[in-house]
Amino acid sequence: MSSLGNLTVITGPSGVGKGTIVRKILHNHSDVWLSISATTRKPRSGEIEGEHYLFLEKKDFQTIIDKEGFLEWASFSNNFYGTPKKIVKEKIEKGINVLLEIELQGARQIRKTFPDALQIFLAPPDLIELEKRIRGRGTESEESIRDRLAIANEEIIAKEEFDAVVINKDIDKALNEIEALMGLKSNQ
Ligand code: 5GP
Repeated sequence: MSSLGNLTVITGPSGVGKGTIVRKILHNHSDVWLSISATTRKPRSGEIEGEHYLFLEKKDFQTIIDKEGFLEWASFSNNFYGTPKKIVKEKIEKGINVLLEIELQGARQIRKTFPDALQIFLAPPDLIELEKRIRGRGTESEESIRDRLAIANEEIIAKEEFDAVVINKDIDKALNEIEALMGLKSNQ
């Protein structure tokens, strides 16, 4: 029987740079597979169905919840987000290393169902820098920015629950640290 793939969870406040780091990991390591989440959030400009998210109506998301089709799901800033169960399990069973980029409540659920998963918290240097990054992205309404910053506070308080905390001050340094934690060979 072939060995199982590893599961790695990357969590951190909105705007901390998880997406950029995850894209770099995928670019550097073709043997790592990123789970594409389902969400009820509306697509941002440039976001592609099936590449960034599976964009669903609330009722369709609810149907998947009812059928226990999510490995984990959470409500975040008035929208639902969830990790499809079947494909993630299939990848792990095939020996593929799977990456989840999810928020705190989801990470807590995975801790119960996959206690062996590596859980990494990506933290901003400070909250002022985080606010600058969210605003600089230019994708959120003022209400959503405030909401995301309030959630960020709660998430940062919970960072010690994670196996490792990586501070994203310098993106290449943070990437190297995460690659080392995941046991991946750095490109640099
Ligand atoms: P955004 O709206 O900025 O794309 O995502 C908001 C938050 O939801 C981010 O912290 C992101 O990591 C998280 N998220 C994305 N997909 C999932 C998922 O499948 N499950 C959970 N629990 N959180 C997710």
